[in-house]
Parts: sequence; C-alpha cells; structure tokens
Amino acid sequence: MAAVSSSVEHSLREICGDERVRTDRRERKMYSVDIGAMPSLVKPFVPAGVAGAVVRPRDEAQVVAVAKLAQDRGVEIVPRGWATSGYGGVLPKDGAVVVDMSDRQRVLSIDAENLTVRAEAGAIWENVDREIGMRGLALRMYPSSYPSSSVAGWLAQGGSGFGSYEYGTFKDNVVSARVVLPTGVVKEFSGSELRDLVADAEGITGIITEVEFRVRRREPEVHRLVAFSDAGSLGSALSAISGGALPVWSITFLNPESTRLKKKLPHHHGHPYEMEHEHFEPSLPEAFLAVIAYPESRREAIDAELDKVISANGGTELDAESAEHEWEQRFAPMRLKRIGPSIVPTEVVVPLAQMPAVLGEIDDKIKQPFILEGMVGKGDNVVLLGFIPHDERSFAFNLAFALSLSVIKIAKAHGGAAYSTGLYFRREATSVLGAEKVAGLLRYKTEVDPAGIMNPGKVFGSGLIDVIMGTANAFEPLVRPIANAAKPPSSMGDLSKDVNGIPGDVAFMAYACARCGYCVPTCEQFSGRGWESQSPRGKYAYIREVMAGRETWDRKAIDTMLVCTTCEVCNTRCQLQLPIEHNWMEMRGKLINEEKRGTFPPFEMMAASLRGERDIWAGKAEHRTDWIPEDIKPLIKDEGPIMYFAGCTASFVEKDIAEATARLLTDAGYELSYMGEEEGCCGIPMKVSGKWDLFEEIYVHNTTEARKRGAKTIVTSCPACSLVWKELYANLARERGEEYEFEVKHYSELIAPALADGRLELKKPIEGRVTFHDSCHAGRAQGIYEPPRDMLKAIPGIDYVEMEHSREEGLCCGSVLTLVGEIEVAPVLGGHRLQEAVDAGAETVVALCPCCQVQLRDSNIKNELGLKIDDLSRVVAEAAGYDIPETTEYSMYMWGFFDKFIILMEPANMAQLMTKIFPQMMDNMPAGMKPMMLAMKAVPGGLSMMEKMMPAMFPMMAPGILNKVMPDMIVAVEEYIGEMPEDMAALMPDLLPKTMDSLMPTYLPQLIPHLTPKFIDYVRNDT
Ligand SMILES: Cc1cc2nc3c(=O)[nH]c(=O)nc-3n(C[C@H](O)[C@H](O)[C@H](O)COP(=O)(O)OP(=O)(O)OC[C@H]3O[C@@H](n4cnc5c(N)ncnc54)[C@H](O)[C@@H]3O)c2cc1C
Ligand code: SF4
Ligand code: SF4
Repeated sequence: MAAVSSSVEHSLREICGDERVRTDRRERKMYSVDIGAMPSLVKPFVPAGVAGAVVRPRDEAQVVAVAKLAQDRGVEIVPRGWATSGYGGVLPKDGAVVVDMSDRQRVLSIDAENLTVRAEAGAIWENVDREIGMRGLALRMYPSSYPSSSVAGWLAQGGSGFGSYEYGTFKDNVVSARVVLPTGVVKEFSGSELRDLVADAEGITGIITEVEFRVRRREPEVHRLVAFSDAGSLGSALSAISGGALPVWSITFLNPESTRLKKKLPHHHGHPYEMEHEHFEPSLPEAFLAVIAYPESRREAIDAELDKVISANGGTELDAESAEHEWEQRFAPMRLKRIGPSIVPTEVVVPLAQMPAVLGEIDDKIKQPFILEGMVGKGDNVVLLGFIPHDERSFAFNLAFALSLSVIKIAKAHGGAAYSTGLYFRREATSVLGAEKVAGLLRYKTEVDPAGIMNPGKVFGSGLIDVIMGTANAFEPLVRPIANAAKPPSSMGDLSKDVNGIPGDVAFMAYACARCGYCVPTCEQFSGRGWESQSPRGKYAYIREVMAGRETWDRKAIDTMLVCTTCEVCNTRCQLQLPIEHNWMEMRGKLINEEKRGTFPPFEMMAASLRGERDIWAGKAEHRTDWIPEDIKPLIKDEGPIMYFAGCTASFVEKDIAEATARLLTDAGYELSYMGEEEGCCGIPMKVSGKWDLFEEIYVHNTTEARKRGAKTIVTSCPACSLVWKELYANLARERGEEYEFEVKHYSELIAPALADGRLELKKPIEGRVTFHDSCHAGRAQGIYEPPRDMLKAIPGIDYVEMEHSREEGLCCGSVLTLVGEIEVAPVLGGHRLQEAVDAGAETVVALCPCCQVQLRDSNIKNELGLKIDDLSRVVAEAAGYDIPETTEYSMYMWGFFDKFIILMEPANMAQLMTKIFPQMMDNMPAGMKPMMLAMKAVPGGLSMMEKMMPAMFPMMAPGILNKVMPDMIVAVEEYIGEMPEDMAALMPDLLPKTMDSLMPTYLPQLIPHLTPKFIDYVRNDT
C-alpha cells in the first residue's frame, strides 16, 4: 500500500496544487473503497489495493495533465465520481492514482427550449434537479442514489432508475459527453460512439469531464401505491400496463419481506435519548407494493385504464398519504441495512414476462429473508435489486454471500443477466453488455490505451477473483444449502460493550453505514475541506479500520472527530437514519473525557476561565449582569418560575441580544427571574470539546441554582443553551438517576405567539431586504423553524427572502469547532452560507444564535461581502420602538483576542513565542543541565545528539521549567496579544498557568518537534 513515488507526487502537486493532492495513508485508504463489502474470505483475492495518491482536479486542463503524466510514467489511474457504485469500478489497484471528479459539480448550461442540460462530471443528480427546477425543467430519469451520485458516474457505470420505464437507460438520454482519453486528448462523443465506447465502460476508455443530456418539463406528479397479493398478479398487471401502452413515467415495486422487515426499523435517528419528532409511518400490508408515477397532465390518459388493470389483477390501491410516504422513501433502498448491520446484495435484469417465474424460483431457493426492490425499464426489462440482511462480523457471512450468485444463476436461466460488470463480474461482460459491444470496447481500449493505464482490470480481465466466482457459480447447487443455512447471529450484540476501544453502538453504526454517500456532499466538515476522511462516511470507515487494528487514534484522527460542527445535517440525510452526529459526540466522550487524549488547546483556556468565572470569554463573574439596563432591573427578579438564561456570549459580548430578549419578554407580560452573577455557561463548549467532567460540574451548578430560585421554565436567548437545558442536561440527569423537571423554551417560541395575539406590537419598519439564517441548534436539533420567521414577518413592510437552503436544509454557519480547531476553514464555511444571502439579494442576515453571529460577522469581513449581520431579538425590539445599538464592532473586537489565542496555540506559533523566553528557560533548567548543554556545544556533533534526546528529556523537564518561567511567559503572551480588555488582562496570570497545566500531557508531543530545533539553534548561536 505504498504511496506513489516522490517524483510522481511532485508532478501531481505541480499540476493540481498541494491542496488538491493527498498521499497520506489515511486519505488513500478512504479512496480505495466503494459500497460493496466483500466477505473476508474472498477479499484477499480481489485484485484491488490501496491508492497511491488521490487528486481532485480543479478543471479539465488538470485532468488532461494528470492523464499525460500517467501515460508518460506508466502510472495507473482510476476515475471516481462519488463512489456510490458497488461493483468495484472505483477500486484502485495498489498504488494507482485515484482521480476524484466530485469537485466538478457545476451545471454549465440549460437549454430550456431544446430541453437539454450540460453539467460537469461530478454534478450530483439532486443538485442538478434543484437547479433546473428553477427553470421549470425536471430530470427525465435518475438513480435512487440521486442524493449522492454523479452524472458521469451513471454514464460510466450504466443502469436504470426512476423514469426508466418511459425513457430507458441513461445512455439513451445523453446527447454527448466530453472525455479526456488516456492519451490526454480531449474528445466529444455522441451517438453510437458514445453508447459503445463511453457508456457502461466504467472509465476504462477515459475520464468524462462533461455530460450533456435530455431533460423534460417539470410538472406535478401523481404517485399511486398498489398492493398485489403475489408476484403473478403483479407481473400480469405490469404486463397489462406495458401492453396497453399507458404513458406511465416510472414503475417500481417491493416484495412483502421488505414491508415486514421495515416494521422492525427504529423510527428515529436511534439515539436512546433523542427527542421525539413528528413522524408518519403508514401501516402497509405485507404484499407486493407497486409505486406508479406519472405527470398530472396524463391523468386522463392513464387513471381510468390503470384502475381497470389494478382491479383485473386483484390489486388494492392504498391511500394517498401512504403513496406519498413510499414515494419519499424511494431514495432509501438500503435502509434495511440498519438491522443487519450488513447485507448480501444481488442485482439482475430479467425480462418482464419472466419476472414472476424468477421471483417464484428465488422464493423456492433462497431460504433467508430476501428484500427485493424492482424497477421496470423500457422494453419490458426489470431490474431486481435484492438484499439479504446479514452480519459481516460473523463467519456465516462468507457462506451466505454465495446466495448473490444463486440469484444471478436463476435470472440467467430465465433470459436475464447480471446488472453490471465492474471488477467482480468481468466474466459476465458478454451477457451484461453484449458480445458486439465487448469486442468494440476491447478494440478501442487497445487503440487509445495500449499500456492499460486507465482504470485497469475493470470490465475485462481475468484473475483469481474470476476463478472463484466461476467456481462458486459452477458449484452453486451444492453451495446453496450451506449458504441458506448460514444465518446471521440472532441479535445485534451487546451495544453497550466496547468493540476494540469503540463504544458498542458506534461500532454497530460503523458497520451498518451503507457507504451510500448521502451524507458526504452536504456535510459541513467535508464541504469546507473536500476530502473523504472529513465526511461521516469517511469517519465511519476510519472507525472500522481502528476496530480492525489497522489504524490508531493519532492526533489527526482525533482532531477529525473533534472538528465536526455538530450541525446534524448528516442525521437528516442518512437513508439508514443513523445517529451520526450523536456518534461523533460519543467518540469525543470516549477519546477526550475517558482516554484523556487532549482536546483543541483553546478549549483549555475556556475551561480555565469557566472554572474560575463561569464564562468562556475571560470576563469576571461580577460583570455578568452588566447587560441589564437600569430601567428593567426592577422587572428581573432573583426568584420565580420563568427563568431567563442569558448565556455567556449575550452576557459579555453581544449584550444587545440579552437586553432585547429581556425587553421583548417583559413587554409580552412575562415575569422573569434570573441567576445574575451566579449564572454559569451552559457548558456546550465543554461538551463538544469532550471535557465532560467539567460539563457535569456546570450542569450541577446551573440546575442547583435554578431550583434554588424556583425555576420551572428556562427561557434562553442562545439556541445552544436551550438545547443543553432541553436535551443534554435531561440526558445527564437520567444517567445520574435524577429527576429533571425543567421545561425549556427559546425566546422566539414565546415572542412569536405574543406578536400573533397582540400582546406585542411592532410599528417601525426595517430598512432593506432581510433574510434569516437557521441556526443548526435551533432548527435541526430542536425543530424551531417558524417562530423566528413569524417574528420577522410581523415587522411592518418587511422585505423578507429565504436563502436557497433553509429550515431543515439550512447551511451551518461553520462555527465554533471550526473556528477553534481549524481557523482557516471557518470563513470558507461562513462564506458559503453568506453567499446564499448575497445571491438572494439580501442586505441583512438576521440570526438568533450569538455564536453564529460571531462567525457570520467574521466571515462577512474576511470574504468582503458587505452584508449586515444582525440579531433577531434586536431587530424585533427595534421594530417595537427600542433603540439598542448592535454589537458587530464590539463582538469583533472581543473575537480578535480569541482569534489571536487560537492562532498562538498552534504548536508552531507557540514554539516561536517561546523563543522569547529561551534565556529564562535555560537558566531554570534542572541543576547541571545548562553547563552540560554548553559543554555539548563544544563537542563536535554534540548538539545534534542533544536534539535527538530532547523529545525524551523535555517532557520530564517541562513542568518544572514552565512553572518557573511562567511570569516571563505571561509577559510574552501579553506582548503578542496586545492590550487586552480589563477583565482578561486581570485574569490572564491565573488563566495561563492553568491552561498550560491541563495542556501539557497532550500538547507537549505536538510542541516539541517545533521547539527543539529552535532551542538547539539558540544554544548554538546565542549562548
Ligand atoms: C442507495 C443507492 C441506490 C442506487 N440506485 C441505483 C439505481 O437506481 N440505478 C443504478 O443504475 N445504480 C444505482 N446505484 C449505484 C450507483 O449509485 C450508480 O451506479 C451511480 O451512477 C454511480 O455514480 P458515482 O458518481 O457514485 O460513480 P462512482 O461509483 O464513483 O463510479 C462508478 C464507475 O464509473 C466510473 N467513473 C466515475 N466517474 C467517472 C468519470 N468522470 N469518467 C469516467 N469514469 C467515471 C468509475 O471508475 C466507476 O467505474 C445506487 C447506489 C446506491 C448506494
Ligand atoms: S454534524 Fe455536520 S459537520 Fe458533523 S459530520 Fe454531521 S454533517 Fe458533518
Ligand atoms: S452514514 Fe448514512 S448517509 Fe452516510 S454513507 Fe453511511 S449510510 Fe450513507
């Protein structure tokens, strides 16, 4: 699994730039898998390995240059879209260069008159559909991997999808494709050349960079759900629809086993303590269920005839709500993997007339639960996708896998074929593609790629894997009884027990992850960086590697777990409804709290401030209440059932938020109580940084204070605070076996009704066009979407617009963990969010989360977008007649110090700062060390020897030295930071030693490599 040679790496970096090339083992592994999970006994024979490098070309010129380089140096290359295929087409041979085309996602042109669209290779169906939808167009067809697969991937892989009943396979709908040939020549393919040499070719003839395809006009759709008691009735109904030439657009179906097993699925994301969200689940009959879709305009031509077909075949039409539900589930074909956690997959194409016989034979021969989804294509072909739930952790999985071949054998006996070739079914190439196409492809491949560098081993070829597949096929009748008897273990295992150091439930989810990639493009952590390791799919893959003992938790891997923004988009995207974000939170607890592997250093500074003053902004507790204007002080009591919880940022930095919230709440008639100086940070920074012991201390403090003051309802300004009170404190109380009685509200949930029923009235308009940013912790985490919008819409004459992504789909601001963990990525993410506001023509972005506002303000400045970032409560209070100055300037001033601390805490920067106190460090070395060092200077090679010894010596000496030089270090830090706010300056002599103390064990190993050469230089030159 070696990386490419350094000279190839150097050339790749020259072509694509450093940020678009990866050769580290972790990333290369992440790009060496697809959705297929081969059984452990077969895996060693799969002719694939670990990529030698991964490149993400920015444009076609870079693809051309990479192809030429590969040709010149004999390097094998593998085109890759979003890796949602499962036939091994994207699996690299050991050392090959993976060319990841997923960054090329633009829709290049839309011809609304001729109904064609041109898109870049990596464009995802869902995004293309959204974009062309704005022009009144819709896709003719799409695969059920619509949320994550690419246009070029489908052309190269081939296949049917929704809409195939009317429009056939994708290649029949492609006008042309632009391809970089293995020689580096760029060629536009169309017509038969395109179908014969590019389509279904799995990238062996070149890298597709653009695809132009036909689309249709968008119109409302009818979705009908019909139950048939057996495969025979379903088959004859489908034949009648086809024979009657009913102009239906799409027909798909499920077998009874699918419905039966679906009832076992957990309904939510599955976290034991998760709040219940509304969830409709129809009770479906355990029958063959067909979903039939067609445009509304064809009702007249279809409805009556279809009714006749349904009744003639004993079908029962189910209610419209169930039909819509099943339609919405069409992108979740793998959802049953959640109960596996693995599946044995199988996929075939059979003639429609033979479909009932094939299903009958499968029923006879496969004696394990068999989930089946069917997709009827043009020309009376049916694609059957089968899954047998199983458990790859058991030996039986190896045996049960043979059943996938049984299904292919049954299909072939009835005039069908395997679905695709890829790497595993090369021996089926002729039956899948046809002899003529295979011969033509072979000829062309030899002509344009004689050295065989382009995706070698795919479509054609032979090796041990083909022998194994062939033998298994030949002995299928003998193997089948054994495979049928190889049942998965009867339970999921004990999810509360660690598996090789991974919490049991996380381990299970890591196996269950189908690698479908739905969570990848929308993941905030991924989109700011673009590398698979940063995505939920990549993180589960890494956890599997750790469990297998092939990887360990080094600093980079730990930071990758920490840096997730907790936006929860992944939870909403996952077709298996895995509790993804909750899993990363659990990993933080495991790695940081339990195993003490060290969090991001700035969190230690916040922790020190929190322990002393109960806030994270290094403000003194006695100043926590400074936000309260004199005139409302009498209205805010020490005790009472409705307690306002201002939180740190609104108390110390964005005080307009606390003031405006309190004014609106009191004006609406709420009598507020308040903890005053006793209020402590809600603790979310400690929770997300893995410092759970401190989080628990805070929980005890805040809940005790709240009870002491008779609080029953907690009202917060910050959505993270309300999430903590509503969910995280409640969970902790449950774990500690304590009562938890608090009701929790975000203030918008009280103010919106007050505006609606006239308790509050807004009179003053707001200038300019306004949009609203959904905070993840209010929206996805708590379902608070409408109250803030209702508040804004109550402002007279407001010019309100939504951004492209809003409510559940709203983009994360990219805040806290990115700001603290990888500061340079934060404005990239904030920029993505704010660009949508610019595109919507907004001048003001209103947000309700104090932390989002800090991040959006910072990103607004760094991206020079010229927007105004304002707070919801402040804007509404202004419309109610209050003049509360907004706090952009002050918040940026305060953030500036954090910014500097975060940068300073990077080991290289800290080492640089420490050069200023080298003389003091030298003087405070343990007895005898200084003379020894000076003596070594005189010995040839002595200092080089010292340099090698430092990593072992320094951790032993550091605590003593640093304690002694701390006053000098504080001076150096103060010089670097500049004039600090009064409280911060006063607290720093206390905060810094505490921070360094907590940091030492995990920070020193990061610091020493930077510090040592500088220290040796100092000894050599300055002593
Ligand atoms: C949940 C789920 C549902 C699915 N539903 C369907 C379905 O309904 N119908 C269907 O046919 N398939 C389906 N698939 C399989 C898969 O999604 C499709 O084959 C999809 O088109 C692959 O697209 P991709 O971008 O992920 O390509 P990848 O998986 O990355 O690549 C697939 C093949 O194409 C090649 N390739 C990729 N990009 C290029 C390029 N730019 N130039 C040249 N070659 C390239 C690769 O080398 C590989 O051989 C499904 C998969 C999942 C996980
Ligand atoms: S919570 Fe957000 S950033 Fe974290 S993994 Fe999920 S989508 Fe990515
Ligand atoms: S985490 Fe869910 S959405 Fe992401 S790849 Fe796995 S199964 Fe798919």
